[in-house]
Amino acid sequence: MYKGKHFTAIVLAAGKGSRMNSDIPKQYMKLNGKEVIYYSLKAFQDSPVDNIVLVAGKQDIDFCREEIVEKYGFDKTKDIVEGGSERYWSVRNGLTVSKGTDYVLIHDSARPCINDKIILSLMDEVIISGACTVGVSAKDTIKVVDENNYGIKTPDRNTLWQVQTPQGFSYNELLMAYSEMEKNNAGNITDDTMIVERYLGKKSKLILGDYRNIKITTPEDILIAEIFLENL
Ligand code: C5P
Repeated sequence: MYKGKHFTAIVLAAGKGSRMNSDIPKQYMKLNGKEVIYYSLKAFQDSPVDNIVLVAGKQDIDFCREEIVEKYGFDKTKDIVEGGSERYWSVRNGLTVSKGTDYVLIHDSARPCINDKIILSLMDEVIISGACTVGVSAKDTIKVVDENNYGIKTPDRNTLWQVQTPQGFSYNELLMAYSEMEKNNAGNITDDTMIVERYLGKKSKLILGDYRNIKITTPEDILIAEIFLENL
């Protein structure tokens, strides 16, 4: 319990990571000798969250239980559930086993450079706003392009943030948003703030995360994350 509320972290690890060009899914590759997923589970294990739900590919569930959760003693991870074909179906499966919690923090296991400050600030914020995410303001100019890669719009950079995870939600509200999504046609949804925006009309609060909280996506990210992890 944190401030009298029950918190569940849902850690997503059911992606294939095709942009990594690796036989091993990116969440199980090693960073400074430990699996990518180790770092996210460790951060939540050491945080005030009450329990962790790990969402993994069906073929990786035994590996996760034996070689990650049991091996490293992550005893807050009581449930390991099968993911879905899209990120949002993986989240939905995590939500299904989280009944009774007050708040969920949803995190991509591909972001190992998460730290305790990020988790605590999100836990404080979700109690206030009910929907929030960490992110960072864009450093680069961002272009909207047409199908031939010609820039057609340049939004004002001061209004642009790059969204990261974890993202925090009131459990009941997110569940409601998901049930609306399932009734309508899902598609092109890359995070959960989009789901509450689209299906509840609810704004999410963005709070400053950390530029080091990168998502491991392509091979060079491994090298960068190793350096960040040594200096968190
Ligand atoms: O593909 P992307 O990098 O956006 O995935 C973000 C996170 O969502 C990763 O941690 C990945 O394992 C997870 N994911 C999932 N189920 C899917 C697709 C992605 O759990 N079907």
